[in-house]
Amino acid sequence: MQAIFMGLPGAGKGTQAERIVEEFQIPHISTGDIFRAAMSEGTPLGLKAKEYVDKGQLVPDDVTIGIVSERVSRPDTASGFLLDGFPRTVAQAEALDKVLKEMGKEIDVVIHLNVDRGLLLERLTGRRICRSCGSTYHVVFNPPKVEGQCDKCGGELYQRADDTVETVATRLDVNIKQQEPLLQFYAAKGLLRTVDGDAEINEVFGQISHILRGVQ
Ligand code: ADP
Ligand code: ADP
Ligand code: ZN
Repeated sequence: MQAIFMGLPGAGKGTQAERIVEEFQIPHISTGDIFRAAMSEGTPLGLKAKEYVDKGQLVPDDVTIGIVSERVSRPDTASGFLLDGFPRTVAQAEALDKVLKEMGKEIDVVIHLNVDRGLLLERLTGRRICRSCGSTYHVVFNPPKVEGQCDKCGGELYQRADDTVETVATRLDVNIKQQEPLLQFYAAKGLLRTVDGDAEINEVFGQISHILRGVQ
């Protein structure tokens, strides 16, 4: 099963992906996670990505497409994958189709987590991430049992540098602009399924699992 999660920053893609990949046993491929790992290691990719990520802009298509093409070709994707945060432009979506076609694969479903824009700022500024395992929390909506500490691994929780009010505003603008044509691209292929992402985390999870079981 090759699935894609779409949605604006803060829609809940990462939160749901953590749970879905556990249930469906497929790798979670998040371009945001890949860039953050490269940035913290200070690799050439990380240095390049940092110029854009810190400002809330999109990393150029050629860089991003190269990373994902390599990642989806690895052996662990034999039984499928869940893409989170990619594609974000129509050019990325077209490149993805091409790479998959060469592998004899195609996208089975695109799930759009639709969230009221007014909720996103609060979700993003209250987001906290585990430094060790990458799990996502929210100070109000999904707090850890012990403040500042990951429930799963005990790791330290931190706030992403791009989850500040100023950078969030740019990210939302950029993504709103790019998202509409991309939604149309997948709707035209009959792959788009929209989920009410305003609902509670467990409820959203229920809706997504139901859709994925139907396409499996
Ligand atoms: P994305 O990956 O789409 O940017 P995240 O999954 O990181 O979004 O979620 C953004 C923030 O909102 C996180 O702090 C997360 O805990 C919280 N969150 C995710 N889903 C919900 C939900 N359904 N209701 C309330 N808060 C949520
Ligand atoms: P969010 O969870 O808030 O949706 P991500 O973690 O997916 O954000 O992405 C963080 C940043 O990484 C983006 O603001 C952008 O700079 C970069 N990035 C992630 N995915 C892509 C992509 N597909 N194309 C270009 N840039 C990307
Ligand atoms: Zn952790």
